[in-house]
Amino acid sequence: MEAAPEEKLLEVEGLSKVFRVRRGLVSTPFAAVDGVSFSLSAERHEILTLAGESGSGKTTLARMILGLIPPTGGRLLFRGRDVTRLSDAERRTWFRREVQAVFQDPYATFNPLRRVESYLYETAVNFQVARRAEADEPIERALNAVGLSLKEVRGRYPSELSGGQLQRIAIARALITGPSLLVADEPVSMLDASLRMAIVNLFRELKGRQSLIYITHDLATAYYASDRVAIMLRGWIVELGPVEKVLGNPLHPYTRLLRSAILEPDPSRRRERMAAAVPPDAREPLGVGCRFVHRCPLAMEICRRAVPPDVLSDGRLVRCHLYRGEAGDGRSEQGAAAIPGWAGQPEAGAPDPTGPH
Ligand code: SF4
Repeated sequence: MEAAPEEKLLEVEGLSKVFRVRRGLVSTPFAAVDGVSFSLSAERHEILTLAGESGSGKTTLARMILGLIPPTGGRLLFRGRDVTRLSDAERRTWFRREVQAVFQDPYATFNPLRRVESYLYETAVNFQVARRAEADEPIERALNAVGLSLKEVRGRYPSELSGGQLQRIAIARALITGPSLLVADEPVSMLDASLRMAIVNLFRELKGRQSLIYITHDLATAYYASDRVAIMLRGWIVELGPVEKVLGNPLHPYTRLLRSAILEPDPSRRRERMAAAVPPDAREPLGVGCRFVHRCPLAMEICRRAVPPDVLSDGRLVRCHLYRGEAGDGRSEQGAAAIPGWAGQPEAGAPDPTGPH
């Protein structure tokens, strides 16, 4: 008997977001996210990291997944339902309970003049988790999950708590609704190095409760936190697979450069290597071929004129002409399907560099 297809929590299919960028008097289309695809299983929890430098499109992608901005093209399904077609009521009640966000700056999350517990009660009441008088129990549960208690938090203002404690409270607030998915956008970048690993460890502990999309430019925490990682470059996912493959033995030249930069012990050489990997201006014209062609040490003639295909190679997908021969002629549907959680990207009619608009 054939196994039933795996139920999906999230399906991102060829998702794109095009902004208009003003240059002098003219505005031109700019594809911040261009034809990105992946999925998360509803049957097992995982941490998927979207990693890339500033301008790679990872935050725009996260904002689309959270329903904060609409996509320009592609599909975004949550539990099989098209997120862009939800009614306002469904978005407010069902979707926002299921998908919660943790943002970068815990200091900006809380008004310095409000006691922090007021945010927790507000969330419990607004999302109809409990009435005000009965909200202590779900709030206590959420705080306990992040290593805090209501007793420690009650009556305190943000200035009386550390950045690490505030970020834990922000995470507890997201947990109150019992979400199936947390989307955490650079959640440790504003914290001291000593607190970062504590929060990353917390995410690993919380994986027992729901899946997490972790957005970061920090490959070290990505390596530690993730089950899978997607490396983003100028709107594309250029490498996607299990973290031990993608960061342990990267194949894409961009991933290799990023990884070599973090392994460099000398900070000034690390900066040089990063500069070699990152485009000088993420909004510079994208050209017609590979978006890494001007910085790639292995660039070939074909890289300037043809968009690279997604190729299955050594247990991950990699978007690069170097691997074309490995899964037949470029990426095959069969090859894509062999990686759990990869929904595949449309190769036919290679995407317009500026994306749909
Ligand atoms: Fe380098 Fe070509 Fe691969 Fe792009 S497609 S990463 S330019 S080898």
